[in-house]
Amino acid sequence: MSTSNNTEKKSLSFTNLKLKPDLTKNLASLGYHDMTPIQAQSLPDMLNGKDVIGQGKTGSGKTAAFGLALLEKLEVKRFRIQSMVLCPTRELADQVAKELRKLARAVHNIKILTLCGGTPFGPQIGSLEHGAHIIVGTPGRIEEHVIKGTLILDDLNLLVLDEADRMLEMGFEAALDNIIDRTPVDRQTLLFSATFPDQIKAISQSIMTDPVLVKVSVSE
Ligand code: ADP
Ligand code: MG
Repeated sequence: MSTSNNTEKKSLSFTNLKLKPDLTKNLASLGYHDMTPIQAQSLPDMLNGKDVIGQGKTGSGKTAAFGLALLEKLEVKRFRIQSMVLCPTRELADQVAKELRKLARAVHNIKILTLCGGTPFGPQIGSLEHGAHIIVGTPGRIEEHVIKGTLILDDLNLLVLDEADRMLEMGFEAALDNIIDRTPVDRQTLLFSATFPDQIKAISQSIMTDPVLVKVSVSE
């Protein structure tokens, strides 16, 4: 595993990333001018297609970090599920979907579908039949869909595990394994976590390829 050396001495402006012009313009209209430390240190590697482990406290801007990598990689004209974000709870999945929609506002016709437990299964099948570019959801419900064959992930090229430590604490390891087994092996994988216990190290070794570790300490 390598550690990021994208030092903070570089300018923190989002314009340096050379994102799609619509995304950059929208960031300015959202009032996002400078990258947070975790964004500055992880985005260059994520945009280069590397697997990245991002460790940073709550509120450090991890959603926009992986969200921008995801939206930059997305081919809007290809109406296939290209990326998926797994979150520990329905509330967090809703928050992530909301932030992604905000970031994607300038990019028309992006379909983001949330799939969480606690909501009826049937309507989700209908939504999946209509198609989506991005799935955001919780491991339990997504596992059900992949096992039943109502969610096919053959076109997935980016997988994000958000709050991975909490997903493992909640006992989702087997569900994660079942889901990841049904995704293409050549996908890009991003893992975000507030802590980095041995269990996260082990899972990252089994599901990621030569990941870059980006760690932003509490003092930043
Ligand atoms: P985390 O997942 O690391 O806990 P979030 O992704 O939820 O943090 O971000 C926390 C808040 O910071 C959100 O309200 C988000 O809109 C805001 N934010 C993220 N990146 C930036 C930025 N570069 N500039 C200004 N605000 C930002
Ligand atoms: Mg978060």
